[in-house]
Amino acid sequence: MRAADIADDIQRVLFTDEQVQARVAELAARVDADYAERDVLLVGVLNGALMVMADLSRAMSRHCAMDWMAVSSYGSGTRSSGVVRFLKDLTVDIEGRHVLVVEDIIDTGLTLSYLVSNLRSRQPASLNILTMFRKPDAATTEVEVKYVGFDIPNEFVVGYGLDFAGHYRNLRDVVTLAPHVYS
Ligand code: 5GP
Repeated sequence: MRAADIADDIQRVLFTDEQVQARVAELAARVDADYAERDVLLVGVLNGALMVMADLSRAMSRHCAMDWMAVSSYGSGTRSSGVVRFLKDLTVDIEGRHVLVVEDIIDTGLTLSYLVSNLRSRQPASLNILTMFRKPDAATTEVEVKYVGFDIPNEFVVGYGLDFAGHYRNLRDVVTLAPHVYS
């Protein structure tokens, strides 16, 4: 689905599919270079990171392993509930492995802090973070994010894996929604 297909729902297009894909290719090249000597395990955070995992892994020119975790922090609203629920764990043991966590978006950083402390306790050989989008408040988190697709304003965005009430994940472009969608 493209932004033009749902023009009435959209307030503003922040990034087109083409811009997102170009940035993913740049990130993939950096990941390839940084992990040239190590086998990387990509850990995708469901559900939002679905698209970035698929595109990033395919844009890489080296092998990577993949696994998934699922957490939920928002319910169906647009503000963090402050509670991170753990819905699905990894299927592999990450002890001694080089883990790259792939996130869709970091807002308050609450979800990421929770995930990182949980994963660190399993003693990976290394642990880095990649996020496609990052909001200004994320700067206050103590977790260092090695790869950032785009820094964005403090607005609720949808598309490229990010939903509102279960919709818009399959939108290729990244947009803000018109006020009527929320009412
Ligand atoms: P944090 O814990 O950093 O506040 O929030 C992280 C999670 O909240 C993300 O993984 C995502 O599921 C959700 N989230 C944060 N900001 C947005 C946004 O602008 N749009 C959507 N759709 N989800 C968001």
